[in-house]
Amino acid sequence: MPRLAPPDVDRVAAARAAVAARRARAAIKRDVATRARTALEVAQHGWSQPDSAEGGMRVRDLLLAVPTLGPTRVAKVMEALKIADSKRIAGLGVRQRAKLLDYLARRENAVPAETRLVVLAGPTAVGKGTVSTYIREHYPNVLLSVSATTRPPRPGEIDGVHYYFVADEEFDRMIEHHEFLEWATVHNAYRYGTPRPPIERALQKGRSVLLEIDIQGARQVREAMPEAVLVFLLPPTWEELVRRLTGRGTESPEEQERRLATAKVELAAQDEFDFRVVNHDVATAAAEVVELTLAPAPVPLPAGD
Ligand code: 5GP
Repeated sequence: MPRLAPPDVDRVAAARAAVAARRARAAIKRDVATRARTALEVAQHGWSQPDSAEGGMRVRDLLLAVPTLGPTRVAKVMEALKIADSKRIAGLGVRQRAKLLDYLARRENAVPAETRLVVLAGPTAVGKGTVSTYIREHYPNVLLSVSATTRPPRPGEIDGVHYYFVADEEFDRMIEHHEFLEWATVHNAYRYGTPRPPIERALQKGRSVLLEIDIQGARQVREAMPEAVLVFLLPPTWEELVRRLTGRGTESPEEQERRLATAKVELAAQDEFDFRVVNHDVATAAAEVVELTLAPAPVPLPAGD
C-alpha cells in the first residue's frame, strides 16, 4: 500500500501551489491591464482549460483588470450578469458564460460613437490643467471647451484661450440667461462655468468636445447629458498629489490646505466615473484621454433576466 505523505508536507506543497497560482493570476491581470491580452481571450482560455490560472481567476478580478472599467461599472456588470463576486471563470454556469462572452465581445467590437462629450475631472492638482493644455497643443481635432471664471488671470493666461475672465456681475447674467451647461463655486472661492452654445454647436457638427472641470461640474453634466463620458484623472499616489500641490507654489499655505482637504473628498468620488486614467506622465495620460474621445462608446450593461 502506498504510504501517505505526512500532512505538513502536503500543506507546504499546497501553499507553494497557491503562491504559484496567485503569481500566474497576477501576470494575467497585468497582461489585460496593458492590453497584451483581452479579457475575452483570457475567459475563453479559462473555459477551454479549467485547471489553468485563467480558469482559476475570479471574474470580478478579470473585469477590474480591464483598463477602462472602474469598480462601480464592474459591480453593475456583475450584478446584471448575475455572477457572484467569488465566482471563478471555470466555475461559471453555461448561461453565465454565454452572457459574459456576449458582454466582452460587444465591448471589444463596439461601434465607434459619432460624437462624444467627454468630461475630464479629478482631484485638485492632479494635473488636469496640464493634461488639457497638452491636448490643446497636440490634438487640434479635439475641441477643448473654454470656461468662464470669476478668478483673476494668472501670469501667462490669455482671456478667451485659457478662460473667459469675467466679473461677478457678468457671471450672474450668464446664469440668469441659462448660458451655462454647468457651473460651480470651486474651492469655496471663485465661480467657474461651461458655456453651453459652443458645445452644442460642436456636437451638432459632429466634433468631439472635451471639458476639463471640477467634480461638482461633472455631476451636473451627467444629469444634463447622460450620454457624456466621465473620465477621472488619478495621481499615481497620494504623496505625489501632495508634492504636486505644494510644488506649484502659486497658492498661499492656507489655500494649499483648503485644496488638499478638497482633494481628499474629490478622490472619494472616482467610482462615480466611467473611466479612470492615471497621470504618470502628461503625454501618456493625454493620449489615453484623447483615445476616449474617439474610442467606441461604452457598451451598455447587459440586460438582466
Ligand atoms: P484653476 O483656478 O486652477 O484654473 O481651476 C480650479 C478648478 O476649477 C479646477 O479643478 C478646474 O477643473 C475647475 N474648473 C475649470 N473650469 C471649470 C468649469 O467650467 N466648471 C467647473 N465646474 N469647474 C471648472
